[in-house]
Order: sequence, then C-alpha cells, then structure tokens
Amino acid sequence: MVKDPGLDETIKKLTPQQIEKTINQVLKGEGARMKAYLTTCVHCGLCSEACHTFLSRDRDPNFSPVGKVKNTLWEMVKRKGKVDAEFIKNAARIVYTECGVCRRCSMYCPFGIDIAYMLLVVRRMLNLLNVVPAYLQDTTNSHAATMNQMWVQQDEWIDTLQWQEEEAQMEMAKARIPLDKEGAEVMYSVIAPEPKILAQLLSYMSQIMTVAGVDWTMPATDGWDNSNMAMYSGDFETMARVERLHYDTALRLKVKKIVMGECGHAFRGGAYDGPKWLSWRFPPVPLIHAIEWYYELLTTGRIKIIKKFKEPVTVQDPCNTVRGKGLHHQLRYIMNEMCEDFRDVDPRFEHNYCCMAGGGTINCGPPWTKSRAVSNRVKAEQLKATGAKYVVTPCHNCHSGIEQIISFYKLGMHTKFIADILIESIEKPQHLLA
Ligand code: SF4
Ligand code: SF4
Ligand code: SF4
Repeated sequence: MVKDPGLDETIKKLTPQQIEKTINQVLKGEGARMKAYLTTCVHCGLCSEACHTFLSRDRDPNFSPVGKVKNTLWEMVKRKGKVDAEFIKNAARIVYTECGVCRRCSMYCPFGIDIAYMLLVVRRMLNLLNVVPAYLQDTTNSHAATMNQMWVQQDEWIDTLQWQEEEAQMEMAKARIPLDKEGAEVMYSVIAPEPKILAQLLSYMSQIMTVAGVDWTMPATDGWDNSNMAMYSGDFETMARVERLHYDTALRLKVKKIVMGECGHAFRGGAYDGPKWLSWRFPPVPLIHAIEWYYELLTTGRIKIIKKFKEPVTVQDPCNTVRGKGLHHQLRYIMNEMCEDFRDVDPRFEHNYCCMAGGGTINCGPPWTKSRAVSNRVKAEQLKATGAKYVVTPCHNCHSGIEQIISFYKLGMHTKFIADILIESIEKPQHLLA
C-alpha cells in the first residue's frame, strides 16, 4: 500500500457530515451535464479497451474508465454522499493516481461520455475536503503563493533569464531574451521546470527566435508560468488566478499572441479549462502551442533545417495538444523535417496512449512512481516496438512520465524536446554568430 500523507493523514480529520455536505454541494453545482452522463451510461464497458491502466493491469475491471467512475462518483451519488473516510481515501487514489484525464476513453464510448470530466468532479470534492496527494498539493500551494509551480522567486526568474541569455550569446552573439517589451509579436511562456531544472531550453528558444527574426518578449513579472497544477488538484480558484494573471500579463504587454512552450497541460489550462472557468467565450489574446509555432517557423522558411538528426527517433502525441487540438500532422511534419530516421508509434495521433504522467499524476510525486509505471506497461511495449533510441516528447509531463517508463522497463531509450533537436539542426546564419 502506497503511503501518502496527503491521503493518509487528511482523512483522519474528516467528519461524516463534512463529507456528505461537500459531495452534495459539488453535485448540485454540476447540473445537467453530469446528470446526462450518469443517466446515459449503459455500463457496457466499451471504454475499457481505451485506457492504458486497464490494459496494463491485465484488464482488471477496477482500472477501466467506467470502473473508476463506478468506484467513486456513482457510489457517492447512490449513497447521497453518505460515504466514509476510507472510501474517500480510495477515491483519491483512483482519481488522482490512476487517471491522467487524457480523454482517450471518451473516443471509445458510443455516447462520447467524458469520463475524465466526471473524475475531475470527484477531484473537486476531494480538494474541498483537503484530501489531495501531498506532492500535488505542494505544487498547488506554490501556484497560490508564487504563481508558478516550483516556488521560483522573482529574482531567481530574472537571474535565470539573464544567465540563459548569456549562454545563448556564447553560441550566437546576437541572441537576446527581451523582457517586458511592449507591443511585441510574441510573448513566450514557459513552465517553472524550465528556469528550475531545464534552463537550457530558454537559451535554445532565444537562439531560435533570433534566427527567425521574431519580435518577442518574456514577462519580467509573475504571469510567466501557466503550468497550472491547481487545475488538476481541483483547486479551481487558484487555477483561475493563474490563468487570469497569465492573460493579464499578455494584455499589459500588448503582445499579438502567446506562444506556449512545450507543455501540454499548460496549453490546456490556457486554451480550454482556464477560459471556461473564467466564463470567457474566447481567451483575450490568441494562444498557440510550441508545436504550432515551430511548424509556422519551418513552413514559412523563417528557420531552415540543414542537418537532420540521424539516430532512430519516435514521438509521443501529447493528449492535450493532439487529442485536444489535433496537432498530430504538424508534429509529424516537424519530426520528418528534423529527423532522418523517424519511426512512428502504433497506435498514433489522437489514438496514441497517454504517458500516464498527465492530469497531475506525475505531480503526485515519488510515492506513486512505481504504481504509475505499472499502470503504463502498454506505453513501454509501444515505444519498444518502434526500435527507436530517442522519444520526442513535446510536453513537460510526457517528458518526465516517459523518462520514468524508460527507466522502470529498462528500455535503454532517451527523451528529447523538439527544441533539443531543432537547435542542432537549423541553419544559424554567420552574421548572427559574430
Ligand atoms: S486515464 Fe484516460 S483513458 Fe483512462 S480513465 Fe482516465 S481519461 Fe479515460
Ligand atoms: S462510459 Fe460509455 S463506453 Fe463506458 S460503460 Fe458507459 S456507456 Fe459504455
Ligand atoms: S502528459 Fe502528455 S500524454 Fe500525458 S496526459 Fe498530458 S499531454 Fe497527455
């Protein structure tokens, strides 16, 4: 049994009245959509084959999408909220650690029932009961206090950008990371793991923007991190603060569009969940993902590939940008442009399996690492079958999740972001180097 103080300790403080009241309060607020799903589901189990946890756990029905709803939400509804603390703890294990809210199952349900939404409603209840995996709660606390997910302080942020500008200039003298430039064509957003542990990606983007001659900027103030784990912990108030600040920052800088770095969940927060929670019909500033951005730069000739990556390489389709926005063809274009030996996965595109890191599952932290890997054996088998040595993962969650799968199943592969390959492949004109 996995130990997690966010579940084990918090349930000790719950009272039956508190549980009942919270469940019914959330259910009441959900209205027609929830009722339609609950009454439409015919318990046929056709969604089961869609879920990597079901397939990876030898078809145990408890890990099927409908099984996860049955063991959580349906029981809560059936018992009118009268469930005990142990039930709540088990529900938290299921909805936070066994579902990446990847929405693959909705494509297999004849009625298109959005199971991920139903499990997110359970997360909302658990959040209001303070029963959240400890690491995920810490990430949410960081968003609430610092507006980024890794407690990066304002001075660290600026220092890191200056440091990475200097790194970029070692390669390309004309490279810059312009800060708070009003009226720029692009505001570039990243998530906190970039300044914290993957800072070289900032230098790479600085060089790519310089080669492409883009008028761009990054914010000097809070509002640069859109990773938004609060969206997945069920703390929608904090989620909305993060989204609002992100767009307020873009509006303050009067940029024409936001380019979101290689992160699927940050894209989801900015493109879908954030605006919906904030009751916006559309985001106030257009937002595109890095896949779209690189595609645009390549197809318009603003960057040119002159040296293809030679090793065999495959790709992960991030759910939030591929199932969410259909960017699989753009992603394949980039892969084929950059790589000499691109080997596609099967299944692919919107049918690709989730990495089992999304939806906040990776942020549930080390206690759940083994459980996550066991629940995604099919991803390991799928990657191994390509014979590739590298996996391109244009999403920070996919990147970390697939690294763990590679290590757990000893696949001997390595992960890369698109930018890792692009920076080695593009032409860097002589006049920018000097
Ligand atoms: S992990 Fe994906 S396929 Fe499985 S239940 Fe959750 S949303 Fe559905
Ligand atoms: S969610 Fe859809 S596919 Fe799954 S059991 Fe219900 S009706 Fe069947
Ligand atoms: S981490 Fe990647 S594959 Fe996993 S749910 Fe998110 S976008 Fe999908």
